Amino acid sequence: MTAQRTFLKKATPVASSAPSSSTDVPAIVRGVIDDIRRDGDAAVRKYSEKFDKWSPQSFKLSPGDIEKIIARVPQQTLDDIKEVQANVRRFAEAQRKSITDFEVETAPGVFLGQRNNPIDSVGAYVPGGRYPLLASAHMTVITAKVAGVPNVIGCTPPIRGEIPSATVAALHYAGADEIFILGGVQAVAAMAVGTDTIKKVDFIAGPGNAFVAEAKRQLFGEIGIDLFAGPTEVLIVADETADPFMVATDLLSQAEHGPDSPAVLITTSEEVGKKTIDACTELLKTLCTADIASVSWGNLGEVVLANNIDDAFAIADEYAYEHVQVLTASPRDALTKMSHYGALFLGPMTCVSYGDKCIGTNHVLPTRGASRYTGGLWVGKYLRTVTYQEVRNAEESGKLGRLCGRAARAELFEGHARSGDLRAHNYLADKFDW
Ligand code: NAD
Repeated sequence: MTAQRTFLKKATPVASSAPSSSTDVPAIVRGVIDDIRRDGDAAVRKYSEKFDKWSPQSFKLSPGDIEKIIARVPQQTLDDIKEVQANVRRFAEAQRKSITDFEVETAPGVFLGQRNNPIDSVGAYVPGGRYPLLASAHMTVITAKVAGVPNVIGCTPPIRGEIPSATVAALHYAGADEIFILGGVQAVAAMAVGTDTIKKVDFIAGPGNAFVAEAKRQLFGEIGIDLFAGPTEVLIVADETADPFMVATDLLSQAEHGPDSPAVLITTSEEVGKKTIDACTELLKTLCTADIASVSWGNLGEVVLANNIDDAFAIADEYAYEHVQVLTASPRDALTKMSHYGALFLGPMTCVSYGDKCIGTNHVLPTRGASRYTGGLWVGKYLRTVTYQEVRNAEESGKLGRLCGRAARAELFEGHARSGDLRAHNYLADKFDW
């Protein structure tokens, strides 16, 4: 049964600076991919000039370039990058430990096993059209390296014609084997199909805007992808114990990502709901990213009043948002009452910004309802779980041969059946006559 709700503020989507229904994102992306497939590096350069006004002699940074670029980054920023990367690595290593190879003897002498092999080569996309999202370098590259991926290419766009130096430092410290200053569809397509100067990879990971997410979607199959990690979403579940100022601060912290980033509050308290709306209005007066946050909050922001906390969790689960923050008297209840989210943030002492920037969990997370079928980026996404088998007992092989013969003939596969028959004949005392 659908949980009852009242809207204290409802989304009113209108044309914004984000790609809207009037922008045919799939068609634009298809055109870029087709051109890069046909013309390689020349098309990469053409689109980098067109979309980013960026056409350096080489998109790839040499070791000397990297050294000079890192020298421009303030020491405190470099120290912070290292501290955050240690947190991300610690959690990723714990994830790697949780994934085990195993072998089981399912019948005497019949051994079945499973191994987790890292992908050979990965392209890590680190977004940067609007902000230098250097944390995405930690999330994509460190996780791949902890999984054991030997070749990781990092791509990140220039920001207003400049190389994002802290992002380059983050990619380098995270362990990227090659770094390219290249963004958008042209970066994703070049890594997926390969050009003379950019090696083809097997898998692309990383978040991005609607163009980047669509490029990954269209190239999926030819390469693997982590997930659809498009424009950021935040949802807060709050009861009467929540501080409206904190709720508003945390909603706007995500609304500033882009004009297409929705922020939603589901609350059991009308007072908290109304005060949050007022607090957002006040906070937007001083937020220097209000040009973006006020558009997303104004157009896409919602405040929903639920009858009780169980309904609030049920409504939140319907949204299936990327980030869910829980500001209630018993925040851990969300662990059992909710299952559709990319990441949960429990209680007032943590926040989505911790997850985005520093605490150590991965911030590459499913958007647009994808949390119904996947979690976010983690070490396991970079591993291929494969199986093997060995039979060391003649009688068991013969018995399996008989079973295989019958099972295959039920499907009219005579060739398969004969492989089974041969083992039955070779390994059973009562010879199979074939
Ligand atoms: P971006 O790097 O994703 O995209 C910038 C690129 O978009 C540019 O290099 C340009 O080539 C391309 N582009 C821009 N306009 C274009 C057009 N009209 N046609 C074709 N290509 C065009 O950086 P961004 O734009 O700042 O977006 C970053 C996104 O990543 C935000 O939406 C943010 O919410 C999202 N994000 C998501 C997650 C997640 O896990 N879901 C995490 C972090 C960030």
